[in-house]
Amino acid sequence: MTLTPFFRVKDLRFRYDQSWVLDGLSFEVREGEILGIIGPNGSGKTTILRILSRVLMPQEGEVHLHGKNLLALSQKEIAQIIGVVPQDTYFPFPFTVGEVVLMGRSPWLSGFGFESERDLQIASQAMTLTNTLSFSNRLIFELSGGERQRAIIARALAQRSQVMLLDEPTAHLDIGYQIEIYDLIKKLNVEKRLTLIIVAHDLNLASEYCDRLILLDAGRIYKMGSPKEVITEENLSRVYQSKVLVEENPVTGAPRVTLLSKLMSKKYREKRLTARSNRIS
Ligand code: ADP
Repeated sequence: MTLTPFFRVKDLRFRYDQSWVLDGLSFEVREGEILGIIGPNGSGKTTILRILSRVLMPQEGEVHLHGKNLLALSQKEIAQIIGVVPQDTYFPFPFTVGEVVLMGRSPWLSGFGFESERDLQIASQAMTLTNTLSFSNRLIFELSGGERQRAIIARALAQRSQVMLLDEPTAHLDIGYQIEIYDLIKKLNVEKRLTLIIVAHDLNLASEYCDRLILLDAGRIYKMGSPKEVITEENLSRVYQSKVLVEENPVTGAPRVTLLSKLMSKKYREKRLTARSNRIS
């Protein structure tokens, strides 16, 4: 992995109305890494992705992409570099999977905007990689959550972008599909050398699959670093205001988080105290 910054974000501040939603963020996204953004609801994760893809413009600070100010690039140039997998994708018409994936080619079309043989080839490769080719003729509405998510990733891949931004890619998916999507993300990172930025709500998946994590707290970076540096009991309990247990996953060595309700941890403490007093008496 090289250490060239892909994105460089400096002193970023953003607000939708009066109050700052992002309040002075500085970070880099390194080429070839999987960067996870974690933090409580409303801490500003999705807003960061919207700024990196220039859907929103910050009131203060700068975002550089490969050393160029993001504001200096056209929407078309940005779409050729950055692929986005949003949290909810709305389709106004009953498109087939193949049609949805071909939409990924639109930043590259010229003239009347008709797809060439090469565009069809690229879309087909994206579907092969995401295992969606077998249902390319089915309507996107008819798919299960996991199949649909793979089709949306295929669309972003057909874009042939260098970086992919994913917003909670496994929300609403069962554990089998969650692993499938994260394995696909890892495969794209390794085989296609894609840089990936993931807003992740599952701390354990983020810990397992991301090279680095940013832990956000109310629009500020609370901690940034490797999963081992970020996923600690102290950091998580402070930012999420919840009791957690962090241990080492015995299989992978990555930090593993167990949520503890206040009620359960009280019961556990009492049980330990009783066991101890039984031993003493
Ligand atoms: P997260 O992804 O961490 O849940 P968001 O980036 O979605 O957080 O939101 C951060 C804050 O910005 C929240 O307080 C949210 O209510 C507010 N917010 C998000 N989108 C809008 C919007 N379109 N208009 C006004 N406020 C918004």
